[in-house]
Amino acid sequence: MTAIVVAGGGLAGAAAAAALARAGRDVTVLERDAAPAHKICGEFLSVEAQASLAAIGFDAAVLGGHRISRLRLVRDDAAVSVGLPFEGLGITRRRLDAALLDHAASCGAVVRRGVAIRGVDCSDGLRLDLAGEAPIRPDMLLLATGKHDLRGVRRQAAEPEALVGFKMYFQLNPAARQALAGHIDLILFDDGYAGLQMVEDGMANLSLLVDRARLQRVGGTWTALLADLVKRNTLLADRLIGSVPLLEQPLTIFRVPYGFVHRPTANDPDRIYRLGDQAGVIPSFTGDGMAIALHSATRAANAIIAGHTASAYHRALRRDISGQIRRAAALYRLARMPLAQRALFGVAGTFPSLLRLAAQYTRVPPRARSALY
Ligand SMILES: Cc1cc2nc3c(=O)[nH]c(=O)nc-3n(C[C@H](O)[C@H](O)[C@H](O)COP(=O)(O)OP(=O)(O)OC[C@H]3O[C@@H](n4cnc5c(N)ncnc54)[C@H](O)[C@@H]3O)c2cc1C
Repeated sequence: MTAIVVAGGGLAGAAAAAALARAGRDVTVLERDAAPAHKICGEFLSVEAQASLAAIGFDAAVLGGHRISRLRLVRDDAAVSVGLPFEGLGITRRRLDAALLDHAASCGAVVRRGVAIRGVDCSDGLRLDLAGEAPIRPDMLLLATGKHDLRGVRRQAAEPEALVGFKMYFQLNPAARQALAGHIDLILFDDGYAGLQMVEDGMANLSLLVDRARLQRVGGTWTALLADLVKRNTLLADRLIGSVPLLEQPLTIFRVPYGFVHRPTANDPDRIYRLGDQAGVIPSFTGDGMAIALHSATRAANAIIAGHTASAYHRALRRDISGQIRRAAALYRLARMPLAQRALFGVAGTFPSLLRLAAQYTRVPPRARSALY
């Protein structure tokens, strides 16, 4: 039987492995983290993402997340609250990814944790170089290493944004917890934005992205940045008063290539399928990166089962996701300019339904989903 290796056991990799194993395929997942770990993510699991999971027999609702059906857009001391056109779930990636990887194993996939892939050589068949063990030669490779590029098969992404991302969990004060019930707060500020929402076990996730130059201006550290933001934003100050940070250090990320969509070329190796962030990266404010990762997983598994080539899969996926990623990237570029951000906020305040429209048009389109589920 064709030996399929999945590089990376995040959402895309685990979902694809589960779908292939359910179809009786010989599939092995190599995940470099030896144990479940926190990941930088706002942890808003959209309704489309939940439906993709359900299609492979996985019910995210049983994991105890926090249901979210409203968005509160905040700038300076003003806020606009709208009902979302869908319900999301706030759930930590540590819990979700671990449960999905366990699900892949229960479907029959071999899951090897603590195995890091160093690089891929496509010059003579496929060869994966592993850290501390002999190379392996699978027949097919699903590249699902997220933001991490592997030597030999790097993404052709454009120059990444000069942004730094942070994520921290907090135990909030009771009033803040109550105010956040069922809501996600999207807080805009000059040169960045933050998302605050509850996840499971009464914890709140604060994830934010900030221009590197702004971070440097306020002192270059998470503590200095947070102090500066709290000073300028009453709502954030109210939320965080008396709160307790739950991680020793925030998780950080930089050089995210927002707007990237893999463009298949004639030189692409034909047995390598790119999934998740290896195939396309949508600005995080949409809360749809996980849905794209899961959609790509189902598309790739279906393509392999149907005997379609990797380039046919990449073309189909590009058709599915490039529109939403382009729209989200345009909105995001606009919102990075303080004047345009103010204008957008003003328009959203007058016509809140535009916020719902923006949310709808930056999701995996229903026509792409209906072809699969
Ligand atoms: C700040 C921020 C906030 C976000 N907020 C949201 C949100 O609220 N909602 C949403 O839907 N999306 C959000 N996203 C996007 C979302 O996190 C990603 O799109 C999603 O995680 C992509 O899934 P993936 O499976 O492709 O990659 P990942 O989830 O990153 O998984 C990749 C896996 O590969 C493993 N790996 C990496 N390198 C190797 C290697 N060399 N060998 C073996 N294993 C390896 C990693 O350990 C990891 O487990 C956010 C992103 C950012 C940056």
